[in-house]
Order: sequence, then structure tokens, then C-alpha cells
Amino acid sequence: MTAPSPEQVAETIADLDALAVPVEAGRPAAERALRAAGRGVSTDRLRVALTARRERAGLPSRRPAAAAPPTARRKTGLDLIAGLVDPRLTGARCAGRAPMFDAEVPGESAEDRAARLAAAAAICRGCPVVGPCRTAALEQDHPAGMWAGRLRDHAATPGRSRKDLSA
Ligand code: SF4
Repeated sequence: MTAPSPEQVAETIADLDALAVPVEAGRPAAERALRAAGRGVSTDRLRVALTARRERAGLPSRRPAAAAPPTARRKTGLDLIAGLVDPRLTGARCAGRAPMFDAEVPGESAEDRAARLAAAAAICRGCPVVGPCRTAALEQDHPAGMWAGRLRDHAATPGRSRKDLSA
């Protein structure tokens, strides 16, 4: 079965928000609400969307996320050179949360990836520097991961440095 895309998950999150489905709601209740509104979705898509909403709200996931092996940990912004700081991105809501916005996280399932990226895109939608972020992404040779709510998937590039250092 194909995992739901970040866009599909984001659409379901928007539907759940519009229907005022409580973020703590379980899948059956959410499914009923969506069906009643004529917005029925697949079980996988709904499960990912519910997980992403919980993450967005800072609630613990109902299912523990796959742990990445220690050797796969990515460098944080503090490991990167200070010359990459971009003052336009001061106040970025992703600052200090780089792994959440990465294109890939080692050891992550497709379902967890979709949930994580949907939650990241939701954070971008409320970010005060989304415009400068979009500009900064266009200026990068190989932007990677989520920038301005859009996944830019150049897997070979580490790339979250500017925002990591702009908190
Ligand atoms: S819009 Fe850009 S700076 Fe803001 S949270 Fe998203 S990726 Fe980070």
C-alpha cells in the first residue's frame, strides 16, 4: 500500500481542524466526523493525519516513533559554521527542530515520515518568516527538506543550517 503524501495528510489535517475534531480524538471518532462531512479518507491517511495533529499540538504520539540508530544522528545547527546565519530567518519556528524538517530521517518508516513532514508543513503555515524562507530556499543551490511549507528533496544535502542558527 502506498503511504499518503504530505499534501494528502495536510488536507486531512485541515479537514479535521475545520470540523473542530478534538486533537485527542481517536481514529473512530475522527472517521465518523469526516464521513459525516463527506470527507472520508483511507485508514492510513487518517492515522498519519491524527499523529501529525498530536505532534503539532505537542502531545505525545500514541505510538512510539522509530528510533534512529546513534550513528545516524544528524549534526545540529551548533555544529555548523556561524557564517551561515541568515538574519532574515530570525524567529523561524523550525529553529532548533531541524530533524523534524529534514527530507529523510534514518530508520523512519514511510508512514512516520509523512506524519512528520505534515506536522512540519503545518508549523511553516504559522511561521512569521515564511516569505524570507521561500526566498532563502530559492537562493540555495540544493535546498533539502521542508522549506516554507514545501518539501525540497535533494537527499544528498544536509541543509538546515541557516534556520538552525537563526532562533
Ligand atoms: S517557513 Fe521556513 S523558517 Fe518558517 S518554519 Fe517553515 S521552514 Fe522554518
